[in-house]
Amino acid sequence: MGLPTIVQPLAIYIHWPFCRSLCPYCHFNRYVVDHVDEKAWEKAFVAELRYWKNRVGKRKIVSIFFGGGTPSLMSPELVGRILETIKTLWDVSEQVENTLEMNPTDQEKAGHFFHAGINRISMGVQSFHDETLAFLGRNHRVSDIQAALNHLKHVGLRYSFDLIYAHKNHQDHQQWGTELTLATPWIDDHVSIYQLTYEMGTPFYKKRHQELSDDTVLHLESMTDAAFSPLGLQRYEVSNYAKPDATSIHNTMYWTYQDFLGLGPGAHGRISTTDDQGKTLKIATHNRGLPDQWMDSVNTHGHGLILDQALTRSDRLQEQFLMGLRLQKGLDLNAVLDIGESLHPELIQRIHHCIQADLDLVVAPETPFSASASASASASAGVLPPLVLSNKGRCVLNSVVDFLCRGPMVMPV
Ligand code: SF4
Repeated sequence: MGLPTIVQPLAIYIHWPFCRSLCPYCHFNRYVVDHVDEKAWEKAFVAELRYWKNRVGKRKIVSIFFGGGTPSLMSPELVGRILETIKTLWDVSEQVENTLEMNPTDQEKAGHFFHAGINRISMGVQSFHDETLAFLGRNHRVSDIQAALNHLKHVGLRYSFDLIYAHKNHQDHQQWGTELTLATPWIDDHVSIYQLTYEMGTPFYKKRHQELSDDTVLHLESMTDAAFSPLGLQRYEVSNYAKPDATSIHNTMYWTYQDFLGLGPGAHGRISTTDDQGKTLKIATHNRGLPDQWMDSVNTHGHGLILDQALTRSDRLQEQFLMGLRLQKGLDLNAVLDIGESLHPELIQRIHHCIQADLDLVVAPETPFSASASASASASAGVLPPLVLSNKGRCVLNSVVDFLCRGPMVMPV
């Protein structure tokens, strides 16, 4: 009897780029239009799915995520037809997580999305204060949020919601404390807490002098941990809290550097493959951003790709560090090494530098990192401990990753 074929899990991200209005802090690929021809969009999404089926072959679909933009503006029929198409092309896991991002003002469609196959909602709540919602330029109010979350409970849909923190209304810690008190009774099994960022090109960019200091942010984070841990919610990633077994399957695919397809305008994807010599490759894909250009490309070529290329070994390592170090459990260094590789002694030195008490950016593992611990990733390899950032390290994640990736990282085969 032969060995069973291992079918690699795959997540699918579908980008719906339209919103009712534009929020002044938002830097996503989103547009406001008067009319959307859903038939044309359905045809394009189906064509892109077929293109990818031909390219990636047999895979097990573990997550389908409708993001945006505001995908709750899609008709439930369109969402249902996309889910059905995916089922005809691939084997879909019985535990598949089908998530749709929803604006609170679209709550009356929740039951229809549920019947179309959506089993998890990610709601853009942002705040339980009307004053903060107005500051963020949101078009909903607290009463809309409460009605929407009550409706999701009534329908029986699992949900997560997002809150935005660390903005000018949180200079005073008490305001964030009040926000947490108001939010807590509404939490289901998952909640995301995002720091307000002032991205170049957004109307909020000129307000960046209002950014809070790292110490203030750390204090707000510790208040959040203290408020959520009695509910059994663990901060499993920089911005995400969940009850046991309720972590987001979709985002975990990103953080553990597994494969995902990106469909729709501006979507990104990462697909593993091997070259002629059997070496591991990761293909980075990026679709055309403008909706019309994406659709023209799909209608002409079957895909909307503007980038489709293998990452270099160092780019791949940098991405794995950037993603994996976001997780509370840290980066699995064993999964980072290709067959036959070992950690470079200079990387181990840099890790030890970050562990030093005066920096306290990386948590000291029970078994210290050492050159002898940098065993190869072959079948007989020793096991490397995970690389885990401290709370302070996660607060300056990008700088820590830059430092760790500055120089050789692995010893080649
Ligand atoms: S609704 Fe979401 S995607 Fe649309 S503009 Fe606001 S933040 Fe951006």
